[in-house]
Amino acid sequence: MLPYKHEPFTDFSKEENKNAIKEGYKVVEAYLGEEYPLIVGGERITTEGKITSYNPAQKEQVVGIVSKATRDIASKAMDIADETFNTWKKVKPEVRADVLFKAAAIMRRRKAEFSALLSKEAGKTWVEADVEAAEAIDFLEYYGRQMLRLKDGVPVESRPGEYNRYDYIPLGVAVVISPWNFPFAIMAGTTVAAMVAGNTVLLKPASTTPIVSYKFVEVLEEAGMPAGVVNFIPGSGAEIGDFLVEHPRTRLISFTGSRDVGLGIVEKSSKLADGQIWIKRTILEMGGKDTIVVDKEADLELAAQSIVKSAFGFSGQKCSACSRAVIVEDVYDQVVNRVEELTKALTVGVPDNDEHFVGPVIDGSAFNKIMEYIEIGKGEGRLVAGGTGDDSEGYFIQPTVIADLSPTARIMQEEIFGPVVGLTKAKDFDEAIDIANNTEYGLTGAVITNNRMNLEKAREDFHVGNLYFNRGCTGAIVGYQPFGGFNMSGTDSKAGGPDYIVLHMQAKTTSEML
Ligand code: GLU
Repeated sequence: MLPYKHEPFTDFSKEENKNAIKEGYKVVEAYLGEEYPLIVGGERITTEGKITSYNPAQKEQVVGIVSKATRDIASKAMDIADETFNTWKKVKPEVRADVLFKAAAIMRRRKAEFSALLSKEAGKTWVEADVEAAEAIDFLEYYGRQMLRLKDGVPVESRPGEYNRYDYIPLGVAVVISPWNFPFAIMAGTTVAAMVAGNTVLLKPASTTPIVSYKFVEVLEEAGMPAGVVNFIPGSGAEIGDFLVEHPRTRLISFTGSRDVGLGIVEKSSKLADGQIWIKRTILEMGGKDTIVVDKEADLELAAQSIVKSAFGFSGQKCSACSRAVIVEDVYDQVVNRVEELTKALTVGVPDNDEHFVGPVIDGSAFNKIMEYIEIGKGEGRLVAGGTGDDSEGYFIQPTVIADLSPTARIMQEEIFGPVVGLTKAKDFDEAIDIANNTEYGLTGAVITNNRMNLEKAREDFHVGNLYFNRGCTGAIVGYQPFGGFNMSGTDSKAGGPDYIVLHMQAKTTSEML
């Protein structure tokens, strides 16, 4: 087997690549508006209740309609997943990993189509969609290989006359609740991590982006996944999410989403249900309030570029997005001016071509919430760029920069999840790191400086799960920059990291006398 390497990104300045993605759009346009069933134990189930997925850039355009799982169906899916676990856990890890490798090959072949679907369903630009499709493939290639490394356990000592082994075994049924902002990569990554470890999965994708996950489950089937291993059950959190989190047969919950929903899962999953004989495992990826720190001895052009790219890529809707920058006072005005220039040069629009850097935000309620934050920001600081939105055709918000904020301003503390960045001044580097740490989150951060001692100080004191030096704070790559944060950003777990699969397993010691 070839060693793991991340999937290359597509260069859209090349005509052949432009043509390929345009072909991808044609494939997707041919199935826009279609209806999709649930998939439970391989069976297609159609329900009366539906979830409609709209294109956030053209809000009248229906991307697809999926059946909505009821509590009865969720309960049936649980029984099937529980039953299937008895056979799937005995399938050799090599065979389980092969399903991932084959699925990755199919996804690579259909990459342009998946990118176009992400553009339609989540409002991603070509570049953002392509990076996400690559990441989805990476998760399969990486986790498949990680499972192969774990399949014979980990060596432990044996004394004379005994033979000890330390093996990892799967847990049981995993409930995977995936987000809309990486509806392909994180959905696929969290699903296959649980599955390749030998667990069975109940997949509840975000209601705004269910179509890409339906297509992904079809890919898994085509790659040889047996019926019942991954079950596709979109539905409402209140109706089936809570039910599954509280179910006595749920063994593991893998969730990516907001802080509040994540904390709700911790609380609900900790209550013992009738007949439950284990403590449920949770793997949670929650929010961020991610900071770029700019020192006085720094490449200021790099600083401004990093802030703008990390703040406004995918309209700031990444947990890793730069939502605040702390700039040492000696260079504050220079950096703010350059951030203003770069931001004003960005264009916003329908992301079906490679003209715009910024697409829409995901839906009407996100639009309203972000616009409210912009109003709060105007009161708390100085509006430097953006500040307006237009939801007449799609949910478009101008990239917005608010400067001169107090470190404790709401704009500097609360996760906005939109194209809004707050800027503040620090008297020196030490104070800048203190400000960067004054949040309950701890996901990503970046430091722009040419001062080695300050980089080393940040390495020790800047308390985030993913810390970047002299670059932006988004764009972690599977197997290269394992991703996940501290404190309210989650359970300190690292997606795309060497210990991620183990989180979906339990270790068993056997000791035999010879
Ligand atoms: N892994 C992504 C990045 O590094 C962010 C994932 C997320 O937003 O949840 O930018």
